[in-house]
Amino acid sequence: PILLEMRSITKEFPGVKALADVNLVVREGEIHAICGENGAGKSTLMKVLSGVYPYGSYNGQIFYQGSEIRFSDIRGSEKAGIVIIHQELALVPHMSITENLFLGNEPRKNGSYDWTGANRRAHELLTQVGLRDDPDTLIKDIGVGKQQLVEIAKAFAKDVKLLILDEPTAALNENDSKHLLDLLREFKTRGITSIMISHKLNEIEDVADSITILRDGKTVETLEVGAEGVNEDRIVRGMVG
Ligand code: ADP
Ligand code: MG
Ligand code: MG
Repeated sequence: PILLEMRSITKEFPGVKALADVNLVVREGEIHAICGENGAGKSTLMKVLSGVYPYGSYNGQIFYQGSEIRFSDIRGSEKAGIVIIHQELALVPHMSITENLFLGNEPRKNGSYDWTGANRRAHELLTQVGLRDDPDTLIKDIGVGKQQLVEIAKAFAKDVKLLILDEPTAALNENDSKHLLDLLREFKTRGITSIMISHKLNEIEDVADSITILRDGKTVETLEVGAEGVNEDRIVRGMVG
């Protein structure tokens, strides 16, 4: 079944048409890659979905789990289980891993902060992403690969159904990238659908079930990744025109 359908999405900023009649169909349980050159509109498309200001006003329709939806802020999309991890990570450097996990959503018991509950939940969430660091470590003291994992653990704290990663491996080394791609595969076995924005063809081929190519704010095509991989020339031609 189809989890998400974005239909004929158009988004303009003063003097820029960022998206023009873009279509995207994501099946339940798949890993869907969005690729395209810098400025193609990939991040804008996902921000439109999340409803984050000023992306929540657009033309077109979005269907999610069979109903038309239109979010005017990220609280709405997160409540629906749609969580986006942006290129610019939203972590507080001088706070601990645990504090970041629950920022704005702190576990409480009888009106006060529930330390025991928070530590137990933090442990569970960090285990899910394979992060074994002490949860009291400050974010500024861990590398970008681990910071990315904290962001994913935060998504799990919000009961994610559709996990969207915007160029998640752009700043990661090979090992951290591989760990992240393995995680996406594992989440898939647990019924979580992912959208990964990337222009690294090797990792797309490695992990994606299908690929939507954007160019100059328009959908070029959606390709299925078969057992024999993808036609890389076709993707490159789609991206650069
Ligand atoms: P990509 O993620 O594919 O690199 P973006 O979605 O970031 O591309 O950008 C697509 C186009 O929309 C670019 O021309 C960009 O400058 C423009 N754009 C994106 N966000 C804004 C904004 N908030 N205000 C003005 N222009 C924007
Ligand atoms: Mg970009
Ligand atoms: Mg982008």
